[in-house]
Amino acid sequence: MISPEAVLGLPGYQITGIQEVAGKIRISARHAGPKSCPHCNSTRLRIKDKRIRQPRHESWGLRHCVLELESCKFRCRDCGRTFGQRFPGLLPRKRATEPFRRSVFQAHYDGVNRSRLGRREKIGSATVERWFQDYLRRQLAERRGAVCPRVLGIDEHFFSRKDGYATTFCDLRRHTIFDVVLGRSQAALEDYLTKLPGKDRVRVVCMDLASVYRAQVRKHFPNAKIVADRFHVIRLINHHFLACWREIDPIGSKHRGLLSLMRRHRHNLKPEQRVRLELSFDQFPALREIYRFKQRLCYLLLKKHRTRKPCEPLAKRFLKALYELSQAGLAQLVQLGQTLTSWAAEIATMWRFTRNNGITEGFHTKMEVLQRQAYGFRNFSNYRLRVRIMCS
Ligand SMILES: [Zn+2]
Repeated sequence: MISPEAVLGLPGYQITGIQEVAGKIRISARHAGPKSCPHCNSTRLRIKDKRIRQPRHESWGLRHCVLELESCKFRCRDCGRTFGQRFPGLLPRKRATEPFRRSVFQAHYDGVNRSRLGRREKIGSATVERWFQDYLRRQLAERRGAVCPRVLGIDEHFFSRKDGYATTFCDLRRHTIFDVVLGRSQAALEDYLTKLPGKDRVRVVCMDLASVYRAQVRKHFPNAKIVADRFHVIRLINHHFLACWREIDPIGSKHRGLLSLMRRHRHNLKPEQRVRLELSFDQFPALREIYRFKQRLCYLLLKKHRTRKPCEPLAKRFLKALYELSQAGLAQLVQLGQTLTSWAAEIATMWRFTRNNGITEGFHTKMEVLQRQAYGFRNFSNYRLRVRIMCS
């Protein structure tokens, strides 16, 4: 006994024949369900005309599959309208069934590029793209009304040479991309953030040390605490420290191995590596002091999961370090001190909140892969559609 539903993956059909013609499978079928007028639901219909519809259907392995459906043109005896017969799983005027369109969507989603997929299925690459976007829009419509996440990560990433950078809004609790917006300037974000609903729900915003983002968040998210991203803070400290080292010791600072050791946290150094560092400091005792200061500062900033009480001595130590930086007399360190001072509050919240932008950075890698698979995007709205569905 053959179950038509199992063969076709669609309900309500009767199969009248299956044959293979020139490597293609032809399934002749008839829709057996009740027929009614789509306008008034009447079942008093008169057949005006008959024809055969031949939509593509899900391939069987590598063999293409075509349905042969007997389709009627009806006239409703009640409202007098004329209409074509409706079939489950086949939209009006479409030349492919929904299971086939979905299988193409899925294959492209999984990374088969559209020209290869088009060649395999004997459809145009533009068709692949069109169907793909159809399904993405459908999925997006199901999620419409998603409110602003409570814990938000904001970061920038490169979009294209023509359009420059884009800003990512990431839901750090659910590990999904909330949205991407073209541009990273105040003007670009202002319009988007003004219209964004549910902004007062946001409690925590995590970001790198970008003052444009900070100003926008302060303005638009009244209930949010801003947390600096630990990775970016420590990278900034390392950057200024290495610049300082370059000024003191222009030759030694070009040594790749030493450079890598200087960047590391102390717990990532082996004993013999510590000895190497100490030896290199013998020529420049001032550098040793600066290095030790940098290590202390980094360790201070690595602390997390603290309650309010233990934060107080940490804050004191941090303020002292900032004072020392301002008195250092070296341009690089003074500049670092100024940046850290202007971000002192956001850096101090790092001790209490463990959120960081690691997830957002991970998504940026995923977005790069998306861009590569599409050989780059010219149209930002196409890119945004993909990112919102495929990075969630
Ligand atoms: Zn009718």
